[in-house]
Amino acid sequence: MSQQGYVATPPYSQSQPGMGLSPPHYGHYGDPSHAPSPPGMVKPAGPLGATNPGAVLPPGAPPPGPHQFGQNGAHASGQPPQRFPGPPPVNNVAPSYAPYQPSTQPSYLPPEATSSVTHLGTQLSAMQINNYASGMTPPSQGSPGPLSATSFQGPPRPPQPSILQPGSQVLPPPPTVLNGPGAPPLPPTAHRQEGLPGPVPLSAQYQPPPPPGQTLGAGYPPQQANYGPQMAGAQLSYLGGFPTGPSQMAGPPQPQKKLDPDSIPSPIQVIEDDRATRGGQVYTTNIRGQVPPIVTTDCVIQDQGNASPRYIRCTTYCFPCTSDMAKQAQIPLAAVIKPFATIPSNETPLYLVNHGENGPVRCNRCKAYMCPFMQFIEGGRKYQCGFCNCINDVPPFYFQHLDHIGRRLDHYEKPELSLGSYEYVATLDYCRKNKPPNPPAFIFMIDVSYSNIKNGLVKLICEELKTVLEKLPKEEQEETSAIRVGFITYNKVLHFFNVKSNLAQPQMMVVTDVGEVFVPLLDGFLVNYQESQSVIHNLLDQIPEMFADSNENETVFAPVIQAGMEALKAAECPGKLFIFHSSLPTADAPGKLKNRDDKKLVNTDKEKLLFQPQTNVYESLAKDCVSHGCSVALFLFPSQYVDVASLGVVPQLTGGTIYKYNHFQMHLDSQQFLKDLRNDIEKKIGFDAIMRVRTSTGFRATDFFGAIFMNNTTDVEMAAMDCDKAVTVEFKHDDKLSEDTGALIQCAVLYTTIGGQRRLRIHNLGLKCSSQLAELYKSCETDALINFFAKSAFKAVLHQPLKVIREILVNQTAHILACYRKNCAGPSAVSQLILPESMKVFPLYMNCLLKNCVLLSRPEISTDERAYQRQLVMAMGVADSQLFFYPQLLPIHTLDVKNTELPAAVRCSESRLSEEGIFLLANGLNMFLWLGVSSPPELIQAIFNVPSFAHVNTDMTLLPEVGSPHSQQLRMTMNLLQQKRPYSMKLTIVKQREQSEMVFRQFLVEDKGLYGGSSYMDFLCCVHKEICQLLN
Ligand SMILES: [Zn+2]
Repeated sequence: MSQQGYVATPPYSQSQPGMGLSPPHYGHYGDPSHAPSPPGMVKPAGPLGATNPGAVLPPGAPPPGPHQFGQNGAHASGQPPQRFPGPPPVNNVAPSYAPYQPSTQPSYLPPEATSSVTHLGTQLSAMQINNYASGMTPPSQGSPGPLSATSFQGPPRPPQPSILQPGSQVLPPPPTVLNGPGAPPLPPTAHRQEGLPGPVPLSAQYQPPPPPGQTLGAGYPPQQANYGPQMAGAQLSYLGGFPTGPSQMAGPPQPQKKLDPDSIPSPIQVIEDDRATRGGQVYTTNIRGQVPPIVTTDCVIQDQGNASPRYIRCTTYCFPCTSDMAKQAQIPLAAVIKPFATIPSNETPLYLVNHGENGPVRCNRCKAYMCPFMQFIEGGRKYQCGFCNCINDVPPFYFQHLDHIGRRLDHYEKPELSLGSYEYVATLDYCRKNKPPNPPAFIFMIDVSYSNIKNGLVKLICEELKTVLEKLPKEEQEETSAIRVGFITYNKVLHFFNVKSNLAQPQMMVVTDVGEVFVPLLDGFLVNYQESQSVIHNLLDQIPEMFADSNENETVFAPVIQAGMEALKAAECPGKLFIFHSSLPTADAPGKLKNRDDKKLVNTDKEKLLFQPQTNVYESLAKDCVSHGCSVALFLFPSQYVDVASLGVVPQLTGGTIYKYNHFQMHLDSQQFLKDLRNDIEKKIGFDAIMRVRTSTGFRATDFFGAIFMNNTTDVEMAAMDCDKAVTVEFKHDDKLSEDTGALIQCAVLYTTIGGQRRLRIHNLGLKCSSQLAELYKSCETDALINFFAKSAFKAVLHQPLKVIREILVNQTAHILACYRKNCAGPSAVSQLILPESMKVFPLYMNCLLKNCVLLSRPEISTDERAYQRQLVMAMGVADSQLFFYPQLLPIHTLDVKNTELPAAVRCSESRLSEEGIFLLANGLNMFLWLGVSSPPELIQAIFNVPSFAHVNTDMTLLPEVGSPHSQQLRMTMNLLQQKRPYSMKLTIVKQREQSEMVFRQFLVEDKGLYGGSSYMDFLCCVHKEICQLLN
C-alpha cells in the first residue's frame, strides 16, 4: 500500500502542508489551495446569504478558491440576487416532508493482499516474533484504556457489556478476549458502573484460532484481574498476551490453513445487536452527544431539543477538544445532513413558527436563529447566543418571564425553544427582490429523436404523464397543486408547446437557433394542469405521432436545459426540468460532445479525465440554473457511451437526480423507469434553497459534499433539494472546544415550498466534547464515517490519481485504528488486532468502498457507469450509502410465511449461499433473486408457478403474482426493501452457475472482487499489517 509511511495525516494535510504524505492536490486529499481561514476568525454572519445587509464578513476570509465550488469544481463568481423583506401570509401547518435514498456495488485492493487466510496467521505470528525478539516487556496494564474494543482473535463470542465508572475517563479496557476453538465460553466480564444512561460499548476480541492442538497459556497480565476467571486456561497467548511459554518462543505457529470467517466482525451481528437493543423503541433526543440507533434499526424518534438522526447524523457524537487530538485520531469530524428527510407517519412533522413581519429572532452577531441553545438571562430581557456567546436583547414582541430555573415560561409552547427542528415563515427579507416567490413549475422535455420514437419510449412517457400529472405535489391543506407545467420536445431543434386552456389544439413553436435559445412564448407555455388538462392530453396523444416519421438521430442537450431555465426565468419562478434523453449530443450546438471514452486512461494519472466534464459549458449552465432556482432531473436511456460525466454536471450541481437505464427495453425496463418517474415527480421537495451551517466557537464547517453548488465558502446553494438528498459537511477546529459547552451545530435552509411560500427550516444538534480519545472513539458512527469517506474520495477522483486516493483511504483506516490501539485499547500484544466497538465493521465497509467501481481502476467497467455511481453517491444520505456499499442479502427459502417482518440478513459472501437455497440481494439500485441449482421444486413452483429450476425463465423483471403464501411473502419482502429507497431497484433473476451469476457475484462484497479488490479477510490482514507498522 502506501510506501510513504504514515505519519502524515491526509485529512489534515491541507492545513499542514508539508506534513507526512506527499501533498496531494485536492480537498481532503490535500488541495494546497484549500487553506483554512485563519484560526480565531469570526464566523461569517448573514442570514443565509452573504447578501444580508449588515452581515459581518469574516475578516480575512480567504477568497473563494476552486475547491469551494461544488464537487465538479464549477467555478462561479458573482452572487445570485437573493432573499430579503416582508412577511408573507402563512398557515400554521408545517409541511410534512418525507423520504429517503439508494445505491449499487463493489470491488479493490492492492495485489499484495491476496491469499487470505494464511496471511493472517503468518502475519500475526510474525508480529509475535517481533515482539519476543525485541524483548518487549509485557504491556503495562496501567495504561488508560477505556472502553470497549473488539479485538481480532479467533471465534467470536457474544459481546459482553462493559460498564464504565462515572467519570469514566481512564479505565482499564474491558475488551473481552476471545479464545481459540474449543475454548470454553467466557463468563461475562467484570462490570463497572457508568453514570450515563444508554448503551455502553461492548467489547469482544477476536483471535484467529491457534493451530490445532496447540494449547496456550494465560496471555494476560495479572492486572487484568477483572478477567481473571476467563483467562484461566482460555487465553490465547499466541496472539493476545505477551509471551509466556517457550513453546511460543520456538517460532511462529503453523499458518492457519483456514480461518473461520465467523471469527471476524460481522456487519449482520452489528445490525442485529442494535436492532435487539434499540429497535422498536422510542429514541428521545434530549441528551447532548447521545449516539443514536444505527440507520438499519427501526425506532420512533422523539425530538426533545436536538434534531432527529433522520435529519443529521455524525461521524462522531463527541468531538475532540483540541485540533491536536483530532489530528492524532484522524477521525473525520462531519455531519451528514438531510434537511428534508421523510418522517414516518408516527413521528411529529415539523412545527411552523410565524413571527409575522418581525421574522425569526436571530443573534445580532452570528445570525444564528433562536433555538434551544440560547440562554435567557436578566429576567428574560436578554439572551446569550450559544454559538458566538453574544448577549442580545430580546425583542419586545418576544419577551417572556423566566421561571425559577431560568427557563422561559413559554418554553414548551415555542418549538424554537424546546425542539431540535422546526420551520420559520420567512419574511420578504428572505425573498428574491423582496417579492414573495411564485409557485414552482415543472417542465417536461422529451428527446424525440429516431431511436426514442422507434423503441416506443416517447409513447410510454406521454402516456404516463397523463396519469402522473394528476399527482403533482401540493401543500397538505390545498386541494390542487400550485405547480404549473410546460412541455418541450427536441432532437437537434427545440419544439415549445402552447397548451393554454382556451385552445382547441396545442400549438407548436419550433426554435431552430439552438446557439442562442430564446423562449418563443410566455403566455400558454406554463399552465395549471387542471385548467389545461384536455389540451395537455391532446398534446401527449399527438407527440408520438408527430415525430413518428422523423429520421433525426442527432440531438442537442445544453440548449434543452438552457431553454427550460430561460422559461422559468421569464416566468419568475423556480422549478424543475424533467429531461428524457438517450444519446451523446453530437449536433452542432453549445455543449456538443464527442465520444472521448478512452479505456487506455484507466489506471493512469489521467484517469480523472474520465470523471471530468469534457467542456465547461455545463458548469456555467449549472451556475445559471442555480441562480434561477432551476433544478434538473435527468432520465437517461443510453445504448452506448453518452458521457454521463458531462451530461450529469447540471443535475449534479442543481440538486437534481440522474436515472440511467442501460439498453432500455420496453418489456423489461418500463416498470422501473415509470416508478422512478412517479417518485421523482411526487416526492417532497424545496426549491431555490440555500443552506448555512453555523457552529459554536472553536470549530467550523470547512468542506461540503453533495448535489450542491457553492458560490462562496459558506453558502450551500441548491436549485432544489428533495427528501432524499443529503449534504455531508466536514468540520475543523479553529480553537479549543470545551467539555462544558460541547459543540453546537445549527443548519438553516431557506427555501420555497411547492406552494410558493418562503420558509426557513432549522435543525439544531448538540454534540459532546472530550479530551479523552476513548470518548471520541466510543461515540463514532461507522455508517456516517463511510458516507463521509465515500463522498470525499469521490470528490477527489476528479483531481487525483485513484491510486493515491485508495492509498490515503487505507492509510487513514490504519491510522484511525492504530491510534485507538495505542491510546485506548488495553494492553495486548502488537500482533493483536483490536477494533473500537463502534467501528467493528469499519474495515469491512472501507474495503467495500475501495472495491466500488468508481475507485477500482478496471477497463471492464463502463466509464458511464462509474461516472453515474460517483454522482449518485455524492448526494446520498447515510442509510442509502450503507446499503449501497454493503448490500442486504436475505435467505428466501427459509422465509416464515406467517411472519411479516424481514428475515435476518446473511453476510454478503458466496460461502453463505447454498445450492438448496434462494436468496434476495438488494443494494438500493439493483435487486437479484439468486436460485441455487438444487432449489426445492415446491418453492420454485410457489414463486414462479413452474415445476422446476430448469423451467424458470430468467428474462423477467417482475415476479409472477402466484397466489401461494411464499409468493406473496417474497413480493411483500421486495416491497419492504424498496420502500424509502429513492431509486426503483430492477429485479434480475440469477441461476446458480449460469453466466449471469457473474454480475451478481460483484455484490458479494466480502469476497475477493471479480475485477480485483480484496476479500474482507485479506483487507483486514492488510490493515492489520499497516497498524502494526504504525505501532512499531
Ligand atoms: Zn450568535
